[in-house]
Amino acid sequence: MNKEKLFKERVDDFWVYPKLTKIVDKRDFNDDFFSFLQVAKENNNRTNLYIHIPFCDSGCVFCPYYKIICTRNNKLINEYVDYLLEELEKYSKTKYIKTTKIESIHFGGGNPLLLSKFNFKKIIEFIKDNFYLKENVSWTLEASMNSITDQVMIDLLELGFSRISLGIQTFNEKIRKDMGIKTTIDDINRCINIFKKYQFKEYCFDLMYNMPNQTMDDWLNDLEKADQLDPYHIDLYNLAIFPNTILDEKIKKSDNLIVNPSNSNQILMYENAQKWLFNKGYKQLTTNTFSKSQEKIHIGDQTYLDNGDVLGIGASSRGFINKKAYKNVCDINTYMRELNKDNFPADLCRNVTELEDMERKMVFFPIKLMILKKDVPEKIYDDIFEFLIQEKIIKEQNDRYILTQRGTVWSGNIALMFISENNWKLYIKSFLNSLKEKTNPYNEDYMGTKYGK
Ligand code: SF4
Repeated sequence: MNKEKLFKERVDDFWVYPKLTKIVDKRDFNDDFFSFLQVAKENNNRTNLYIHIPFCDSGCVFCPYYKIICTRNNKLINEYVDYLLEELEKYSKTKYIKTTKIESIHFGGGNPLLLSKFNFKKIIEFIKDNFYLKENVSWTLEASMNSITDQVMIDLLELGFSRISLGIQTFNEKIRKDMGIKTTIDDINRCINIFKKYQFKEYCFDLMYNMPNQTMDDWLNDLEKADQLDPYHIDLYNLAIFPNTILDEKIKKSDNLIVNPSNSNQILMYENAQKWLFNKGYKQLTTNTFSKSQEKIHIGDQTYLDNGDVLGIGASSRGFINKKAYKNVCDINTYMRELNKDNFPADLCRNVTELEDMERKMVFFPIKLMILKKDVPEKIYDDIFEFLIQEKIIKEQNDRYILTQRGTVWSGNIALMFISENNWKLYIKSFLNSLKEKTNPYNEDYMGTKYGK
């Protein structure tokens, strides 16, 4: 790839590598891919446990995640939890997982707070009884703010959760409405009051920039309002618009959504947010995480970004264990059917090569803003590092390379330099295939498209 050309257009960070695609990574549910789990763990990779709760009561038009829109009372939730336990049990009985120490456990979604306390308890007790957990293992979750009540807060504290990530996105009412975000500003304020009442400090906000109709003033106003609510940290996300999605169509057709998100706009918004946050005393922990009080990257993110392992559970979860990458099926019925047949419910898998594993580490390093020199493979990437230093995108600092201020803007592009030609071609091929099949490229399914169910 032409190095100079790579830095013309900003690309988003790569949080998944290698990307598994239906084009080449399909598996038979009853193959022997997971037989590697019958051998005890011999590496010293640290491991996270991720559990996907695919139920949500919002309908954000930008959302590509696999989910079923429903309320807390939906009977399917209880049924799904039983299948989650079955999947957890399948892993917990293997020699590999018995010898794996779990550093961090995260419930993502969807909105995990659609689960009752009873269901959470069942899952948590099962994990405590059947997995080898690090002392003081971290329990975290994502949640919609409309689900937080006094009772829910009391339950979460009793269950041992110490951190909650909340998708605020914006405080602008009109944009919230356009984006189909269900929670209201009143929900946000009520929720923060509850956190304060129970002295729960580790609540983190996701904010989104480069949204249609969002001006720079709106964006800086969002940061100001977020800061006033004392978040533990703020994560900044560029709005990703996938082809074929309802949002994509809405933007193309609508006269009301007048500002089409653009590359130059997103760069400016990111840079201005950085400046604003630094002025307010925030420290940058990763390319998208800023905090006044958090000293270092959370153990879950650190483990993941250091190319650690992830045991992914639940429909649509991605896993990476001992250089074996897999992705669970994005359909709850197939997920349950395959567990009924005693199969691991992953429809995609890949034996990751040594080269891909090394690339994975390099692809993630820009997100951490640094890499230790000892972790950079000798010789292979010398010319890339030389180029990045010359362009003042990274610089040397004692035992490490760190991203410069300019480098933090271009972290996704830095990552791109470490992606092999073969894997990059696959990214493009899977993207083009999604265009042809009219699917959402994120999961290669119909989620968030007008063709979806
Ligand atoms: S972004 Fe979050 S809250 Fe919105 S629909 Fe998706 S999972 Fe639900």
